[in-house]
Amino acid sequence: MAKLATQLIQGANGTEDDRTGTVVPALYLSTAFRHPGLGESTGFDYSRLTTPTRALLETQLATIEKGSAAFAVSSGMAAIDLVFSAFTKTGDHFIASDDLYGGSFRYFDERQAKYQINYDTWDGVDVDGLLLKLQPTTRLIWLETPSNPTMKVIDIEAVATAVHAVRPDILVAVDNTFLTPVYQQPLTLGADVVVHSATKYLGGHNDILAGAVVVNNADLAESLSQQLTTTGQNLDPFDAWLLIRSLKTLNIRMHAHTANARYVAQQLKQTAGVDQVLYAGIGGMISFYLNTQYAVDTFLKNLQICSFAESLGSVETLITVPDVQTHHDMPEAQRRALGITPNLIRVSVGLEDQADIAEDIIQAITHSKE
Ligand SMILES: *Cc1c(COP(=O)(O)O)cnc(C)c1O
Repeated sequence: MAKLATQLIQGANGTEDDRTGTVVPALYLSTAFRHPGLGESTGFDYSRLTTPTRALLETQLATIEKGSAAFAVSSGMAAIDLVFSAFTKTGDHFIASDDLYGGSFRYFDERQAKYQINYDTWDGVDVDGLLLKLQPTTRLIWLETPSNPTMKVIDIEAVATAVHAVRPDILVAVDNTFLTPVYQQPLTLGADVVVHSATKYLGGHNDILAGAVVVNNADLAESLSQQLTTTGQNLDPFDAWLLIRSLKTLNIRMHAHTANARYVAQQLKQTAGVDQVLYAGIGGMISFYLNTQYAVDTFLKNLQICSFAESLGSVETLITVPDVQTHHDMPEAQRRALGITPNLIRVSVGLEDQADIAEDIIQAITHSKE
């Protein structure tokens, strides 16, 4: 098989349009497809089931995550909802790593309140402690690594091996939004389900809202397919096409994000006003604690190149304050226990010149001293 960089660029350039010789795949917007005869199908019937453009994207997503099937959906939250709707029911239990996307916690709390699907959290470190939390009704382990926003790294393989040794029926699901298959392929580490907010690195340009679920097991794929046909949170053809286009640069973008993030992390460590820098050493996400003698609001207002905006993973550098934005729905005590304080700043380091990014952040810090 082609190496990842080649697969990303060439993999979805279908050959079905040999008539025109098109180099990039065609975009099909049709919602209906003619049948050759009664009981016959071209493979395409109605666009909630599948479309030629989405099918190309899904084959590409499955290939790059080393899965057998992928499902492209309308957002990262739709991907999370697809997994829970397909694999959990009232009375089930699941365990989630404790430091993850705030919207996922909002979703978990809703599931618990409305459907009695209860959950416990786990610190992401102590695997024996995780095993002690398993209940007969546990159906799913939900991991996000590096964690968001404090960048703790979880050993996916250790978790999957330990959990499956005692309970092969439990699904290990990994939200792989932060590292992407360029740096981490959870299915090869023993995970059962991979989820993405493709709005972030996979899309990479702050212009597509999308999500993905990838599995490498035919039964799991069948459950997801049936659920998706029933509820219809599919990705539309145009965004699917745009995502195919974006994936072509994923490999080069991720390596450039890492190079820029390493540089910015290094510069911030030497900056007066920065108490601590959190960085997993790979990928484009950094967090840092602004010293309390500096004003967070002034810092944000002084940014000139970087944007104060709450997303991540794109070519533009975006800066957020998780305590009041992405993680605000989490109870305050839990935020504080995790180290999510009012002066924790999260940076999604983009692909502008690394010196420009660092200089912009540092000048904004310097000018925010009270
Ligand atoms: C943004 C995000 C989500 C939610 O995805 P949307 O595309 O915004 O619905 C889920 N997980 C992680 C890690 C995210 O960063």
